[in-house]
Amino acid sequence: MSHRLARERVRTVREIEVVNPATGHVVGSVPDMGADDVRKQVDLARQAQPEWEGLGVRARRDVLRQVRRQLASRREEAREVLRAESGKAWEDAQADLVLTLSGMGHYEKSGPALLADEAHPTPGLFGLGRSATRVYRPHGVVGVIGPWNFPLGLTFADAVPALLAGNTVVLKPSEVTPLSTVWIAEVFADAARQAGAPDHVVTVVTGAGPAGAALVDEVDMVQFTGSVATGQRIAHACVDRNIPYSLELGGKDPWIILADADLDRAASAAAHYGLYNGGQVCMSAERIYVEAAVHDAFVEALVAKVRALRSLVSPAGAGSADVSPMIGPGQGQIVADHVADALDKGATAATGGLPRDLVRPTPTVLTDVDHTMACMTEETFGPVVPVMAVHDADQAVALANDSVFGLTASIWTGDAGRGRELARRINAATVSVNDAHTHLALGHLPMGGHAASGTGARNGVEGIRKYVRSTVVVTNRLPAAAELLWMPYRKTASVVVDKAIGLLYRR
Ligand code: NAD
Repeated sequence: MSHRLARERVRTVREIEVVNPATGHVVGSVPDMGADDVRKQVDLARQAQPEWEGLGVRARRDVLRQVRRQLASRREEAREVLRAESGKAWEDAQADLVLTLSGMGHYEKSGPALLADEAHPTPGLFGLGRSATRVYRPHGVVGVIGPWNFPLGLTFADAVPALLAGNTVVLKPSEVTPLSTVWIAEVFADAARQAGAPDHVVTVVTGAGPAGAALVDEVDMVQFTGSVATGQRIAHACVDRNIPYSLELGGKDPWIILADADLDRAASAAAHYGLYNGGQVCMSAERIYVEAAVHDAFVEALVAKVRALRSLVSPAGAGSADVSPMIGPGQGQIVADHVADALDKGATAATGGLPRDLVRPTPTVLTDVDHTMACMTEETFGPVVPVMAVHDADQAVALANDSVFGLTASIWTGDAGRGRELARRINAATVSVNDAHTHLALGHLPMGGHAASGTGARNGVEGIRKYVRSTVVVTNRLPAAAELLWMPYRKTASVVVDKAIGLLYRR
């Protein structure tokens, strides 16, 4: 596997080995960059930025279109890299591709209009004879720091609107899954070269936390996806430097199953959204509240569906396995700790239980759970679905809101209108009714988090405007003459203003 971009121009000799957790095999390595190496990558991106911005949005879009076409044509290769570095099931690698391609497609279409100059009216006495235009300028060099669970969709895909807006970008993939980012940066470099765009529009920094921290020290804006703890550290560093940032952090997403729901469909959805990507998804179904009248029937259906799923034992093609392994034993240990804590406090494992294999924990459904247990309050990020009985919808909403997080939620009911009413009462940035995660495909709508789940959003207007500063240009088109408000102060002018205040603002 080639890592040309990451290796050239790098002083450090230390390497980070990338291990496929499904096989235990080393599948590649990348340099563990120090602060000097990081600075060098940022300098290269900074030198390239004016020329990239100068190309104009349509030329930049054309380069990104070529990258999108390449990614779609070379999707088998992309899936292979993703699967090699993360061990995930074929379909979970496919999901990362879909996330990336749909985001790219969306901004290709909507981006130029969202970045265009805006003419604004200038109403009111003091706006008379003026025109106003709002123009959007890139920040400069954006650092995009990503996690390991969707290495393309949450690192490179987040760079796409930044690039469209005229920034150059330094990508910092997770040290656990850097290979797909190095790969896509090479694809980008080829497309840029063919289009006559400058080199180093996208550069890559590889390494662990210190490399990410060094990047935050150098760039003009930070886009981060990852854990709450790291997000807070990054926010502090950005505040110290007075630079903007956007954070996509963790979740503990609640699901509510009402007694009138289609239980079979809700159970199928809970099994899928609780376990896909091995449950290592920020928006996983992490805790489920079910009205007591249908609790047992729902659990029975869910357990049957979970037991029917196949854990990935060794990598194979499409349709060969359902539940991806953990990214490593450390993640499996968190799963084991949460299950052990719940069982100690009185929970029941309706299926699964304490994992024997930390890389392939058995998919587990827990019942008799409550909010004293870590599995109901802390992000588990594994194949564990805890189910709690509630008296009614009000109790479910109160429990759903008993959390520091606010990412997504999902409500299942036969009465969609009631579901939408309940949705307004839930503290989450997205609430689905009889659905989940579809909002990701609706690129024109923001996807972000409230409270500990983050600040800012990807997708939608917000998802591209965060990568620009707006400058308002006001032009006076009146012939040169003294203004009412200018010195030297004259009584007649002051009286006119006094009358205008009365006329305009006393009503
Ligand atoms: P992490 O916070 O450990 O690491 C994320 C990235 O930050 C990595 O590239 C890491 O090297 C880098 N990093 C670590 N310390 C840093 C520092 N001090 N300064 C700068 N960068 C630093 O997260 P992770 O374990 O890779 O990812 C899992 C987490 O991500 C989960 O909490 C999950 O919920 C969250 N996540 C959120 C979303 C979302 O969209 N809200 C999506 C996916 C994952």
